[in-house]
Formats: sequence, C-alpha cells, structure tokens
Amino acid sequence: MAERTPTPGLEEIRLYDTRRRAVVAFEPLEPGRAGIYTCGPTVYAPQTLGNMRPQLYPDLLRRVLMAAGYEVTYVTNITDVGHLVSDADEGDDKLETAAATSGRTATEIAATYTEQWATDRRRLGCLEPHIVPRAADHVDDQIAMVRTLETQGHTYVIDDGVYFDTSTFDRYAEFARLRLDDLEATGRVDAIEAKRHPADFALWKLTPPGVRRQQEWDSPWGRGFPGWHIECSAMATRYLGTTFDIHTGGIDHVRVHHTNEVAQSECALGVHPWVSIWLHNEFLDLGGEKVSKSAGHVLVVDSLVELGIEPMAYRYFFLQAHYRQKQDFSFDAVDAAGTALRRLIGHAVAARDADGAADPARVEPHLRRFWRFLADDLNAPRALAVVWDVVRADDLSPAEVWAFLVDADRALGFGLAEAEAPDADASGSDPRIDALVAERAAARAARDFGTSDRIRDALAAEGVDVVDTADGATWRRR
Ligand code: AMP
Ligand code: ZN
Repeated sequence: MAERTPTPGLEEIRLYDTRRRAVVAFEPLEPGRAGIYTCGPTVYAPQTLGNMRPQLYPDLLRRVLMAAGYEVTYVTNITDVGHLVSDADEGDDKLETAAATSGRTATEIAATYTEQWATDRRRLGCLEPHIVPRAADHVDDQIAMVRTLETQGHTYVIDDGVYFDTSTFDRYAEFARLRLDDLEATGRVDAIEAKRHPADFALWKLTPPGVRRQQEWDSPWGRGFPGWHIECSAMATRYLGTTFDIHTGGIDHVRVHHTNEVAQSECALGVHPWVSIWLHNEFLDLGGEKVSKSAGHVLVVDSLVELGIEPMAYRYFFLQAHYRQKQDFSFDAVDAAGTALRRLIGHAVAARDADGAADPARVEPHLRRFWRFLADDLNAPRALAVVWDVVRADDLSPAEVWAFLVDADRALGFGLAEAEAPDADASGSDPRIDALVAERAAARAARDFGTSDRIRDALAAEGVDVVDTADGATWRRR
C-alpha cells in the first residue's frame, strides 16, 4: 500500500459529490493516487472567464490533493468535434458551424481556440494537465465503446444516427434526479422525432446522403462523427481506467452530458459507480455586464489585460468565492482582487527578504487551519482569510510569515517564491492624472459607471492603471 504523508490539516479531504448529494470523504480507488477528469473546452470560440472557472477549481483540487500526498493524474480533454449546437441532438456540430460562417477550416478554428485556452490557463496559474486528449484523435475508442453498447442491446439506429436507448438502463434518472415523465421541465424538448424517448441520445451521428463534412469518419454504421457524450467516456476510460476517482465540470452538465456519460459508461464497462466523486461548479454570473458573443464582445482573460488588470487578479478573484456558489463578475471586483493580490505580494516579498529564522511550531497551527479549510470541500474564501490573518499577525516574525506563505502558495498558485515586489509608489506626481483619477472616483460615487470606465480605459491606453484600494483610488504606471 502506497504511503502518503499528508500536510497537517489534510489527513482527510471532504468533497461535495453531486451523485450522492452529500459531502463525502475522498477515498482513492488506489492508495496514494488520484485520477481527475475535467470536461474541457469546445474549441469553436474563445473560452470566456466563465469557462475558466471549471478549469480553476480542479486546479485547486489537484493542488490540495498533491499537498495531501496523493500522486495525481489530471486529464482534461479538448472537444474538437461532436458537440452540437443544441444538447437535444439537433443542429450541426459547433465546429462545422463555425467553419461554415468564418471561412476558416474546423482544424484551424480548433487550433486557435485550443491555444487560447492553454495560454489563458497558464496565465491564471493553472498547472499543466498531464494529458490533454483531443476527441478527434480518439474516434476509434469511441466507436469501440458504441459497438460494445450495441452488442449489449443498449442502442438503436435511425436515419440520423445510433442512439442510446435510455429505457435499457434502470438508473438513468438517478444521477440528476430526473423526472423522465416531465422532460420538458428538464429542458429536453425533443427535436429528433424518430427517437424512442426524448432522453435517448446520439452515440454516433450519420452524415446525411450527399453531404460532406470537414470532420467525419467511417464507422460500422456509416460515415459520420461521434456524439459529444461518448467522447468523454471513451477518453476518460483510456487514460484513467474503467473506474476512476473524480470527474468535474460545470453545473449545467449534470442533467444531460454527465447523466449520459454515466449511462453509457456504466453499461459499456459494467461498473457502478463509474466515478467515485462528481464535482460541479456554479456559474460565473455575467449578467451585470453587457457581454454578447453575437456582438463580438467576449469576456476573456485578454479583456482584463486590456484594462490593465493582470490575469492573476482573476485567480485571486476566483478564490474569493466558493466554487459551488455563483460569483458575480465585474471589472471593478477583479481589479480590486488585483489590488489585494499586489498587497499580498508586497507582504510576501518583504517577509521573504527579511533576516531571521522561523519557528515551525509557531507556523504549524496557522497552516493547519489554512489546509483544513481547503480540505473542507475546497473552502478557498476561508483559507484566504487565514492568509490575511497570518500576514497581519503581530506575533509572527517575517520569517514565520514567509514560511506560512510559501507553503500556502502550493494551493494559492500565485508564484510567491518568484514574485517581484510591486512598485511601492509608481504614481509619482502628475496633476493631470491625479485630476482624472479624482474625476473617475466622483463618477463612480455617482454610479456613473460609463464615465468612470471611460476614464479608466483612457488612462489604461496611456499605460496608467487606476488601483482601487480601501483608502480610495490611486494610480501607477505599468
Ligand atoms: P463549453 O466550452 O461550452 O463546453 O463550456 C466549457 C465549460 O464551461 C463547461 O463545463 C461549462 O459548464 C462551463 N461554463 C460555461 N459558462 C460558464 C460560466 N459562466 N461560469 C462557469 N462555468 C461556465
Ligand atoms: Zn465531458
């Protein structure tokens, strides 16, 4: 049995499991190891700041498991084919549609947005995944799984494709607590009339006669492409085995995508439960912002950078809310998170560079509290509060503060060990800029956010960042 040496506070990790609707202790299938699969991006469009939330919390989870002494294998896929415009099996593939309307090939589009996603993950401090499988590279595995389901009698074929017959799986409704007699209430209004039940879902979509797709493959049922759900089941199985520890994704996936992943995997693989613990994040609420994909306004990491907000501010902002709570986005809130982060870095660098030795016995209780909050279903806001308690504590030496921060940063992921001191006062003096900052503050006080944003944008364009602090707004040159 592989021994693990958990960081104090991480002896037991408790997580909210969607399947059991309860907080449960994490018990690895294999001692000392943890396998995690995250449903990755559908790369037909930029990944928004909302889409990065289901990347950030598995990163935190992975870091906590590592600190707990587990050897983690982290897999997150790229959906580059098969995700339809609608979850009800109708409409075309999102990448084919993007290709048809943009004049670029599906492959070019997938490459562009895969790159954007990977870059933004890095900018947000996420560790590199161990494996990033592409759906289009695993079509053989997907076909094999559909064949198995067919042999077992779980499928039927109609003109449109091969479908999973949900009536053959007794536990189908269990995962999402669906009421199958009221599918309308679950958002599954049927589109494909030949389906036997509205809940049945496509495993393989056939290319209609006379049509040619950019992405299609031969299969035992004819030319076509895989269903989105089978892709994840096949890739997770290939890299993590027939059962594995933790599957994560956005909350919107519970009723359709993950329900279907469970059904086909448990049938094809003859296992139950397929996955020990299912984690789902609540949404980043973009309601307060005028963000419209159709108008070409997509809120991405670069949108922050354009306003002079460093990407890492978004990681700090993410940690300020629990992953199972909705979080309201605003540029001001992320900007304020950036200010707090810079202050934290200032404290960290000062502590790091100070002389003196740390007494581990004085640091340990604080670290234990910090990690214990994270062991409690990744309670990042509480853990962050411990960080500030420590930074402000009168009874800890700088060396002790640093000993705490460098350990905590294994979860926080801010890169404190390499951080440079933020400019103490890059403001200097410039009456014109002082006046603009004061004007912006007055506009904000009057809730005239149009004017305040305009002034901030204008200053950002000349390389000046406005920084909101508890004591009012200041500015600094980039
Ligand atoms: P997609 O690329 O559309 O498949 O989405 C990728 C992931 O982002 C899925 O897990 C979604 O549940 C998740 N997601 C989409 N919008 C948001 C949002 N506003 N906040 C948090 N997660 C989101
Ligand atoms: Zn998936």
